[in-house]
Amino acid sequence: MERIFLATPHMSEENYEQEFIQQAFDTNWIAPLGENVDNFEKEVTELVGVKHACALASGTAAIHLALKAVGVTKDDIVFVQSLTFSATVNPIVYEEAIPVFIDSEPGQWNMDPEQLRQAFRKYQPKAVIAVHLYGLSAKIDEIKAICEEYQVPLIEDAAESLGTLYKDKWTGAYGDYGIFSFNGNKIITTSGGGMLVSDNKEGIDKVRFWATQAREKAPYYQHEEIGYNYRLSNILAGIGRGQLKVLDDRIEKKRQIFDRYMEGLKDIEDISFIKESEHERSNYWLSAILLDSDKVTPKQIRETLEENNIESRPVWKPMHLQPVFIEYKVFGGQVSEDLFNRGLCLPSDTKMTVEEQDRVIDIIKSLWS
Ligand SMILES: *Cc1c(COP(=O)(O)O)cnc(C)c1O
Repeated sequence: MERIFLATPHMSEENYEQEFIQQAFDTNWIAPLGENVDNFEKEVTELVGVKHACALASGTAAIHLALKAVGVTKDDIVFVQSLTFSATVNPIVYEEAIPVFIDSEPGQWNMDPEQLRQAFRKYQPKAVIAVHLYGLSAKIDEIKAICEEYQVPLIEDAAESLGTLYKDKWTGAYGDYGIFSFNGNKIITTSGGGMLVSDNKEGIDKVRFWATQAREKAPYYQHEEIGYNYRLSNILAGIGRGQLKVLDDRIEKKRQIFDRYMEGLKDIEDISFIKESEHERSNYWLSAILLDSDKVTPKQIRETLEENNIESRPVWKPMHLQPVFIEYKVFGGQVSEDLFNRGLCLPSDTKMTVEEQDRVIDIIKSLWS
């Protein structure tokens, strides 16, 4: 049996990516600048509904420079969702700032506005990072309102949620800064890459400057600040432009995968799904389930799927439980711990066939019979 993956790169059938790469070769723009980079940025801003964007080498680089753009430095506090990938938190520590973790709400598993309020009563942070996990939107309008009340900038980690619509806006367009990732497993990919978006022109200009080794405007190499080599290659931006053309198709497919799991597993009372709220249209990057009894554990499902050459993955282990971040404070924590203990991400590869997904469903169901 061929392996069924969690999520893999899925290039367009039309070979759009190849055409944009070819353009880069034809014009010899084999560099971290060029037409593909400019157009990729422009196309993302139009899609997301923000004014400015800077294409970067990764989503992690985008978070790092967003933190710098809002002025986070040594010993500043940053409130950040605990249930996430470590890449959300690492850049806080790069700047020698201090993460304070915020628990999730049980609905869409993202930052709990109530815990965020508690944290604001105790600390004065320099920034807040909210995440839209698995393509489901955080209660981002509530979170934004709290940040505005305290006049603290909001950064949205929308690495997993490109294309998710919440109320009248895309995720990534709510915060002072939004970040996207085009890593190989994300809904669209450049093999590796990221993007920072914002309506703040000055901020994005500054980020572009830092990302290009902080080279001052001078005929010689003049440096007055520490810079980074964080820009996205023109070749990879070409892949991104091609992938943008099929983003709607990929979202449609992810939503079908989710619906099929819901339908196929509906008779198993012990399984529940994280679903989009009534306010959003999710990209359903990964279909995730929760086990509501101990009869069958996530580990049992994962191991049985693996025996059948099928990949699945535990839910993110909360950052407040990670040895590397154990010294930092957390507000709440029980919800994300529970989600980690009872959750599982099912294979959500857009290349997966209906027959393959039926196989996954049948294997899971067999554990209850
Ligand atoms: C993938 C991911 C990132 C990091 O993006 P990279 O492009 O891999 O650096 C950050 N946050 C979350 C939630 C992610 O899933």
